[in-house]
Amino acid sequence: MIHPFSSTLLTWYQAHARDLPWRNTKDPYVIWLSEVVLQQTRIAQGTPYFHALLHAFPSVHELAEADEATLFRIWQGLGYYSRARNLHKTAKYIAANGGIFPNNYAELIKLPGIGPYTAAAISSFAFGEPKPVVDGNVFRILARYFGVETDILHASARKIFTELAEGLIPADHAATFNQAIMEFGSLQCSPVPQCASCPLQPSCVAYATDRTQMLPVKSKKKPVRERYLAYFIFEYQGKIWVRQRTQKDIWAGLWEFYLVELPDLGPSLDVLSKDPCVGPWFTELDAFALKAPAPHLLSHQKLISKAWHIQVPDHFEMPQSDEYQWIEPQDFKNLGKPVLLLNLITDNLSLQELF
Ligand code: SF4
Repeated sequence: MIHPFSSTLLTWYQAHARDLPWRNTKDPYVIWLSEVVLQQTRIAQGTPYFHALLHAFPSVHELAEADEATLFRIWQGLGYYSRARNLHKTAKYIAANGGIFPNNYAELIKLPGIGPYTAAAISSFAFGEPKPVVDGNVFRILARYFGVETDILHASARKIFTELAEGLIPADHAATFNQAIMEFGSLQCSPVPQCASCPLQPSCVAYATDRTQMLPVKSKKKPVRERYLAYFIFEYQGKIWVRQRTQKDIWAGLWEFYLVELPDLGPSLDVLSKDPCVGPWFTELDAFALKAPAPHLLSHQKLISKAWHIQVPDHFEMPQSDEYQWIEPQDFKNLGKPVLLLNLITDNLSLQELF
């Protein structure tokens, strides 16, 4: 028998469902693409990226054959680039298997970048498997409605909420239930809940006990780490010095200018004189201070940066480095780069002219 929570939710959804471009399809590729784009991203921000990606790569085969630079260029600005890398990796795997997506949760979850939420979304939306999606929205709704006090940042939370949701998802309306609970979390039981108009209100524990703002329980977040980045745009004989980030760190795979990371951002350029690569010749150069980009916020990091444009005189021997390479500014334009650097270029006329 269907739980009263579920039947109320399904009725509510019939009246409130938004017509989003990735709904009304059973194509696992389109569903997967939309789910990956929308991870950690608001619908309004993610929608244009979803359209752009689907336009550039209409099927998993085109995505698999794309070069990473093209994918990153389209992805640029969406952040969390590991999603794009995993998307590419998984597309190659699926294309190599004839373009057929696994049709069940157990197989989908083995693919790179496909976690429990995305596997449940694909298996229910495309194949009707009764696997509930469980994310922050679902934690919030279930914690409030059932009065669950488990800390949602605790390792046990996912299991507890997943089991609860498994008892609620109707076997013959799995896809609609999952769509409905996601929509309900966005529109009704949002962080500031709309209890006055909520059809679940008569049986909601949080409402009855006046704890809608206390549930779900969430322990303190990790503190935000501040990082200080000094960027140097070296220009030499019409070329600029750039590298692709390869470390296991933010922005892996993206391209950037010469970077020195510092314990703080003092006003001095002395940092470069101590740099093992640039130091020996740097003191002879003039540096032009650029308008610094605004501090850039990532999920657990705040990036504070400064930047300088430095013309290396033609009579210098071409500076060399294992990590950095000299390329045409035009070529840099076509490479995927962090939004922070896009903002730096946009905010500085001299750089706009260069690129
Ligand atoms: S009554 Fe309020 S807290 Fe309870 S489910 Fe509805 S919107 Fe959420």
